[in-house]
Amino acid sequence: MDCVLLASGGMMPMPERLPTSVLVRRDGHMMMFDAGEGIQLALKRGALGIRALDAVAITHLHADHVLGLPGVLMFRAQSDPTEPLTVIGPPGIERFVQHTLEDLHYHLNFDIEFVEWREGAPATAWRWHDAALFWHELEHSTFCLGYRLEEPPRPGKFSTEKAHALGIPTGPSYGKLQSGQDIIHPTTGEIVRPRDVLGHPRRGRIVAYCTDTRPCDGLSTAIAGADLAFVEGMFGPEHETEASEKKHMTVLEATRAAKNAGASRVVLVHISPRYALSEEVRLEAQARTVLPSCSVGTALSCYEIPLPD
Ligand SMILES: [Zn+2]
Ligand SMILES: [Zn+2]
Repeated sequence: MDCVLLASGGMMPMPERLPTSVLVRRDGHMMMFDAGEGIQLALKRGALGIRALDAVAITHLHADHVLGLPGVLMFRAQSDPTEPLTVIGPPGIERFVQHTLEDLHYHLNFDIEFVEWREGAPATAWRWHDAALFWHELEHSTFCLGYRLEEPPRPGKFSTEKAHALGIPTGPSYGKLQSGQDIIHPTTGEIVRPRDVLGHPRRGRIVAYCTDTRPCDGLSTAIAGADLAFVEGMFGPEHETEASEKKHMTVLEATRAAKNAGASRVVLVHISPRYALSEEVRLEAQARTVLPSCSVGTALSCYEIPLPD
């Protein structure tokens, strides 16, 4: 699994920074977080393809997060897709897409399955093959969701010592046990179960995407222990009051929240258009006073996510 940061801007598309969006790639499939105006340009610039796009999860109905969705749908239609697309998002996302397509007289050649948040919705928004996508309510000027994608736990490490002690000869039985299947012991005829030779299950990887929010419980829960967290760091510390009034975060607020939540790797996104690209070095240095390993995201950077152990 890896993530490509398509763009890192906030509020509006700028010549040097499109609105923030992240592409997650896993086993030949892709899903996307947010689709601001013009984001298909980033997909084209990065030659990332679109046919394998399974889903788009939208955080909220502000232009810099959703206006690019019609373009993404139309771009996908050009690739002769065979699979439906899932669109996940806040209340109103289905109406937005349907009305736009209707008003533009645009007929897609694939189906869209909508997953819209509602009061009392289950914590799991959607299942992406064996991974689960969770949504969390954030604190913004409009209803906004943060996302957390979790891979399922993996089997524990295979212990050759335990296998030897049980008298299981080296061979295909090892592979079967490792993949979770029982085997019949070649000499005793007894059933040997994977738990007899495997260590504790190991957790899967966790990716979080949270933007346009104040520090809040939803943010902390979404990014807790994440291997990779994309978090809004819209303003420098000098604009703390403005960040609070506009329901955004400074780089210091973002990194403090991420540090407290134990996120391993943090990439700051949704950078205000007031900052030139050259000023990101300063924002990053300020953020690193709290979290030395964090970085300000740059467009089309690819973030590999190694297995936790
Ligand atoms: Zn925004
Ligand atoms: Zn917003």
